[in-house]
This record gives sequence, C-alpha cells and structure tokens, in this order.
Amino acid sequence: ETRAKSLLYLEDVSVSFDGFKAINSLSLVVEPGELRAIIGPNGAGKTTMMDIITGKTRPDTGRVIFEDTIDLTKKDEADIAQLGIGRKFQKPTVFESHTVWDNLELALNRSRSVFGTLFYTLSADDKARIEEILETIRMTHRKNEYAANLSHGQKQWLEIGMLLAQEPKLLLVDEPVAGMTDAETSETALLLKEIAKTRSVVVVEHDMGFIRDLGVKVTCLAEGSVLAEGSIDFVSNDPKVIENYLGR
Ligand code: ADP
Repeated sequence: ETRAKSLLYLEDVSVSFDGFKAINSLSLVVEPGELRAIIGPNGAGKTTMMDIITGKTRPDTGRVIFEDTIDLTKKDEADIAQLGIGRKFQKPTVFESHTVWDNLELALNRSRSVFGTLFYTLSADDKARIEEILETIRMTHRKNEYAANLSHGQKQWLEIGMLLAQEPKLLLVDEPVAGMTDAETSETALLLKEIAKTRSVVVVEHDMGFIRDLGVKVTCLAEGSVLAEGSIDFVSNDPKVIENYLGR
C-alpha cells in the first residue's frame, strides 16, 4: 500500500461572499494519521474552511487535494463523503428515541446506503465492528440506553461513533467540547487521540485547555488565512495570535 504524502492539501484557496473575502489565500496541509487543531476568532473562516473541504461551499480560486491526486473542488458533497471525509457539526444529532446500539447500527447501514432499515440483518463482522466502536467511544456499558437519556458529552461521543461506522479517512469535528463538563472534555481529548491512530482528524475548538491537552500541531486562522502554525506554546506566544485572538 502506498501512503499518501499529504491526506489533505488546501492550496491557495479563496472564497468571497458578496465581495467579502471569508477565505483569503489559505494554504494548509494535513498529513495521514495527523490530529490537527484549528483555532481562531469568530469570523476567522473556520466553518467556511470546513464547508470548502466537504464540498458545501465551492472556492473561487485554489485547489483542495485529497490523497495527493483527487481535486475535491471538482466533486459534490455526496462524492466527497463517499471518498472518506466525515463531518461532525457542533450540535449532536443522534436519534434520541433509539438506543445507543441502534444509532450505531443505523449509521453502519447508512454507510452502505441501506436507508431507513434499522433491522437489516447484521453480519457477525458488523456486530464486532459496533462493539469495537462502543469500546472506542467508551460506551459499551450504555449500549442499551436510549440516546435521549445520555449526557450531552455522551451524545457527542455517540455521534462521533456513528461517523466512525462510515470509516472516514478524515474526520472533521466542529467544537466538540462546547457545553461539556471538565471530565467529559478530558475524555474527548483522549478519544480524538485514539481515533487519530487510524485516521486523520481536524478539530476546531475555542477551549484552550482542551487544545493544550491534545498536544498536537495547532493552526490559528484569522481573516481567512493562517496567522500562525506550530505547537500550542509557539502559537499562543505569537504576538499576532495574542492581538487577534487570545488577548481579546
Ligand atoms: P468562523 O467559523 O471562524 O467563526 P466563518 O467561516 O463562519 O468563521 O465566517 C467567516 C466570515 O465569512 C464571516 O465574516 C462570516 O460572516 C462570513 N460568511 C460565512 N458564510 C457566509 C455566507 N454564506 N454568506 C455571507 N457571508 C458568510
């Protein structure tokens, strides 16, 4: 197997809304198996960047290259998801009236385009896969619980588990720890590190304690471009980052 040199490469990407440059000559590389944290003030373009990667927004100029050769700017959202890019939005969207197990089963079936059929027969491999995901998200003991009865943090983890059922090569996660307790926030850092052992993860967060816990390369965006990139110590001591974000 030949591994991609870069899993994701945004090359000089720009997009304007009504003449306002939301993304301005943005370049960014994510390596295979990398966990990357994205920080930056409101309006920096973090959401727009995720929208561009997933094909929800098409850039005006620049390219988004997946696995060295695939230009995502030529593909639509469904194709990009199929290529192995999963996205977790900020708010959890689990099926509250189903159990944890059934949510994962639905997600597994959905990944195979078996829509709406909860009790589509699962193979032994499928069941093992669901058990494995339950272990990863540390919710084996909650598998028969209705999702409605989970804590906010557990709902977030369940949704991450549902995305894992689709075996993404790249997982994009938007502000996962917003509204979580300190204990849940620490657990989430461990969870994302665990997940990044087998795939790449890009996580947008404002919680600097969480970012510090992750201990990975950080990219700070501002006004649609990269303001600083490197270790959290390097980035958080950058005068431009202090002026535009941390010092506010
Ligand atoms: P962040 O996620 O970092 O807070 P966004 O990507 O949401 O930043 O927004 C970047 C800028 O682009 C903001 O000024 C926002 O108002 C603007 N913007 C984002 N999406 C649209 C849109 N669909 N139409 C007009 N302006 C937009």
